[in-house]
Amino acid sequence: MKLVLATSNKGKVREIKMMCEDYDVIAYSDIIEPFEIIEDAPTFKENALLKACAVYKALDDEDAIVIADDSGISIEALGGAPGIYSARFAGEDASDKDNLNKVIESLHARGLKSSSAYYTAAIAIVSKEREFSVHGWMYGDVISAPRGDNGFGYDPIFIPLGYDKTLGELNDAVKKELSHRSQALELMKHILQAQ
Ligand code: IMP
Repeated sequence: MKLVLATSNKGKVREIKMMCEDYDVIAYSDIIEPFEIIEDAPTFKENALLKACAVYKALDDEDAIVIADDSGISIEALGGAPGIYSARFAGEDASDKDNLNKVIESLHARGLKSSSAYYTAAIAIVSKEREFSVHGWMYGDVISAPRGDNGFGYDPIFIPLGYDKTLGELNDAVKKELSHRSQALELMKHILQAQ
């Protein structure tokens, strides 16, 4: 089954391909010219659906199955921030590094070396017959000193529950087994198989 991914985020594309080995996964930007999608909905789920619908429409291919990932990290000491604003925590055009540094500065400003945190991923699936979404979560802690350069985004400061290394230090197998994205994608696979 061919799945078109409504993202050009290289970290997500790499992970989703790795987590969906039995599917033919292709980024939409490899089929059509990428375009800006304004993610202005109040929830991960609605933003994921918004992206999947926009790409489904732009592809103009009735038989396409489009999936979108909207995800982020919620940090207890920051009152749940950055949450749905994870990609632009340090500003509209912020890089992953800028956003990571803003979390570190925010922890320092509160005199903290760590805080409980969790990742959320909403995966939306849009095709001719269906529009649905599933979620996955990964719990752990963020720390104020980054370690490792595996993964992307906030991974160098995130330690999954039960581990003492960051996702930046751990290998892909841990994310494939445990992550918010892999949990949501497993649910998605069950639903796709059932139809
Ligand atoms: P989105 O494209 O609006 O879904 O942005 C998600 C943002 O959340 C990314 O830019 C990352 O900063 C962060 N994020 C989501 N999932 C992960 C992950 O698995 N590891 C690290 N950062 C993540």
